Amino acid sequence: MAGTSGGNAADRSGAERYAAEWAQAVRRLGFVPLSAAETERLLLVHTLRLAHVLFSAEPAAPAAEEVGRALVEAHLTEPGMIEWSVRSLADRFPAQVLGGRAGPPGLGDRIAAMQGALAAGFARALRDRTFTQQERIARSAWQARDTVEQALRDSEARFRAVFRGAAIGIGIAGVDGTIIDVNQPFADMLGYQIEELRRTNVASLFHPDDAAGMWELYEELVEGKHDTARVEKRYYRKDGSAVWTDLAVSLIRYDDGRPRFTVAVVEDITERYELQQRLRFQALHDPLTGLPNRTLFFETLDRLLNSAAPPGRVGVCFLDLDGFKAINDGLGHDLGDRLLVTIARRLADCVAEQGYLVARMGGDEFVILVDGGAGVDDVIAVAELALAAVSAPVRVGDQQLAVSASVGIVDSDLAGTSASALMKAADTTLYWAKAEGRGRWAVYDPERSARDIARSALVAGLPVALDRGEFVLHYQPIVSLLDGRLLAVEALVRWQHPELGLIGPDRFIGLAEETGLIVRLGEWVLRRACRDARRWHTEFPEARLVVSVNLAARQADAPAIVDTVADALASSGLPAELLQLELTESAVMGSAEEPLRTLHRLAALGVRLAIDDFGTGYSNLAYLRRLPITCLKLAAPFVEGIRGDEPDLAADHRGERIVDALVRLAHALELWVTAEAVETEAQAERLRALRCDTAQGRLFGPPEPEQAITARLRAV
Ligand code: C2E
Ligand code: MG
Ligand code: MG
Repeated sequence: MAGTSGGNAADRSGAERYAAEWAQAVRRLGFVPLSAAETERLLLVHTLRLAHVLFSAEPAAPAAEEVGRALVEAHLTEPGMIEWSVRSLADRFPAQVLGGRAGPPGLGDRIAAMQGALAAGFARALRDRTFTQQERIARSAWQARDTVEQALRDSEARFRAVFRGAAIGIGIAGVDGTIIDVNQPFADMLGYQIEELRRTNVASLFHPDDAAGMWELYEELVEGKHDTARVEKRYYRKDGSAVWTDLAVSLIRYDDGRPRFTVAVVEDITERYELQQRLRFQALHDPLTGLPNRTLFFETLDRLLNSAAPPGRVGVCFLDLDGFKAINDGLGHDLGDRLLVTIARRLADCVAEQGYLVARMGGDEFVILVDGGAGVDDVIAVAELALAAVSAPVRVGDQQLAVSASVGIVDSDLAGTSASALMKAADTTLYWAKAEGRGRWAVYDPERSARDIARSALVAGLPVALDRGEFVLHYQPIVSLLDGRLLAVEALVRWQHPELGLIGPDRFIGLAEETGLIVRLGEWVLRRACRDARRWHTEFPEARLVVSVNLAARQADAPAIVDTVADALASSGLPAELLQLELTESAVMGSAEEPLRTLHRLAALGVRLAIDDFGTGYSNLAYLRRLPITCLKLAAPFVEGIRGDEPDLAADHRGERIVDALVRLAHALELWVTAEAVETEAQAERLRALRCDTAQGRLFGPPEPEQAITARLRAV
């Protein structure tokens, strides 16, 4: 090759030095994908080539241009490298390869030509390479596009297949809502031909039950704000019937992202929906009457109380049939059920116009939810409607029944705005209506309720109090009006309450009677009074002090009372004649034989019997003769009627005349008379004048602990 022969003209070692310098430079100026030795070897070939053309006669440019190209092919393309290569061709190359000899003629021009050709070769090769690369990119891009188009064609074919063959309804619409196409199931679902639906607008598929915000969502979808939307939607079929669907709409966009059309996938879920509705109805309604049940009632009540801001005003009529249990037991459950159905329908009808919710709470309890009323008067009006509706005679089978109900009325203004508080209040109020005689309504009263609560707290505490020994006895003197001598003491019970202090019997005896605890409490009083009296009798036998113990009607009725009294006497050792039992008129005035026999057996034990609070009940005077009693205690109002200090008032005279008559009557029956609640000396004076035998009251001493009586006996 030409370079080899030309090498003779050039200095080989100078060329090697130049190649080494060149290699060093290019490695310094950029990345070279060759090792240092490889780079040097490559550049030595080019150096020798350039040296050869420098000394030969042939034109230098083509070889230099080839070297420029070769550099690009070797990836030595950093701009700094070409700059160094071009510049050093003039600066260093001649000096190195001439090795001190004189250069050929026109050396300067030749070098300049070589510089230009090297740069040009470099540039051209670079441009060609860029073209090749671009072309390769373009070619692969085209190949890619072909693949994509094929894929699209495939997917469209698949889509078509799905569209035609799907069991599910599919519809395609433009972003203006125009339906472009629907498949057969879609058309079938709505009862139309495919053709009838094409070109109509989706807006014509509006249904009044469409969920709030659904159409706004669709608007946003076609505006490109969302890509999918899913709702449960109801459609009208062509024949006017309804179909429930699960509707999923997807937005298909142009390549640049603009909304193009929508695809709706619609599944008929009518059966599922109806089943759900049926199950929900069953879960929320009473199977017998078809009325909403308590669950639905509480759901609605909660919603009303919590939704509106400020919370809406809500009233409740809580209605319970009077004596339904007797009807049910007497006529059988079948007729009972039919009665409930009739009542339920009437209640629903009577407020149908206002649209109030009527629910069955269970058993014979119903509620009417009065929402949006102006106040408690509106709720009362509803209660009256309901009572009237219930009270019309009911025909069940061949029976004509007269039914009544009681209604508890509450209002969120009175009873607070929690559903449970409201219903608790309604329950309490219903109880009041029942207690006040049934067949009526009562309105919730927070103060009364507070009293009830305090009362029931007391009731709840009674049994424990008895076990803990919290009851104490005080004794009130009963004295002779003739000489003022202490003849007897009345045992009066008190409750030493750990928190409330000393509580008088008026606050708990009634409760104890209601709950039946009076029997145990009364027995405790009796035994304690007998023990105390026995001690007095032992210490002061001369006094012959009688202890008078109150006996509640329930105690007197208890079959064991005679044995209890006998045992109290026996175990205390108190002589029977030192015990007096006070009974109320109502306890002894019954016509039944049993109480009378009990009284006779008590009298037979040797104890005295007194009628307490005489004149406040309905005494049958004739009956009084048959009773084995020894004493009448004149009730406080008669004694109050005697105002000895104002003797000239007509009223006082009347009061005195009554006491006069009563004392005469008692004496005629050979009974003692004790006046209660004697507070003034003047009263005592008049009572003495009227020949009343004994008296008790503040004038002679209040009820006091046992020791006070002992002290009194000692002082005599
Ligand atoms: P009661 O048997 O008629 O008892 C007389 C009541 O009159 C006592 O009230 C007594 O404190 C009160 N009193 C005394 N002096 C005066 C006075 O000067 N003026 C007036 N206005 N009242 C006076 P207390 O102790 O509150 O007892 C009330 C009622 O509780 C008793 O009426 C009795 O019915 C009943 N009770 C008390 N202890 C017992 C008990 O152990 N068993 C039963 N079953 N009932 C009891
Ligand atoms: Mg008494
Ligand atoms: Mg009394």
